[in-house]
Amino acid sequence: ATRMGSSNNIQAKLVLLGDMGTGKTSIVLRFVKGQYFDCQESTIGAAFFSQILSLNEATVKFDIWDTAGQERYHSLAPMYYRGAAAAVVVYDISSTDSFTRAKKWVQELQRQGNPRLVMALVANKADLETKRQVDNEEGELYAQENGLFFIETSAKTAQNVNELFYEIAKRLVKAR
Ligand code: GDP
Ligand code: MG
Repeated sequence: ATRMGSSNNIQAKLVLLGDMGTGKTSIVLRFVKGQYFDCQESTIGAAFFSQILSLNEATVKFDIWDTAGQERYHSLAPMYYRGAAAAVVVYDISSTDSFTRAKKWVQELQRQGNPRLVMALVANKADLETKRQVDNEEGELYAQENGLFFIETSAKTAQNVNELFYEIAKRLVKAR
């Protein structure tokens, strides 16, 4: 994260990773615009959002980079996450495959990313309890073992979406 103007303001690039369809774009739209769509169009072209969060001790300006659908091919250019201060790795609690894929993203980021990267593992679609394939404990345990922050969210109901970004902001301020 870089300091802007006053030392209590920081600017941080945040990237989202995870399988197509896990809800990355929906999480961002919920956070930035307070909106949710049942049929979120897959993102065409790069999407960029900016959002400021004010904590007691500091202000964090997030520059959020959403994928342009490249995750469909299970590859994202390292350019996408280069320079990121925070990474949000998303899986869908109703898809074991998406959890497996999320773990691969975590490993890739740990190998190639910034060693000071603030990383969150996000179990999205928490509203789909009846279709759950990944237990909360599995995500929690993996996150603990890898030093990540873990949270279950629902972009649909807004559960924990703001909390996710506040926690990342707090950690960025702490790590500064
Ligand atoms: P992305 O490919 O990771 O960006 O995923 P999208 O944000 O495009 O979402 C894929 C699909 O999942 C869309 O139909 C969304 O409406 C749906 N979706 C996203 N988040 C949630 C959620 O929290 N709960 C439920 N039930 N559906 C969701
Ligand atoms: Mg998307």
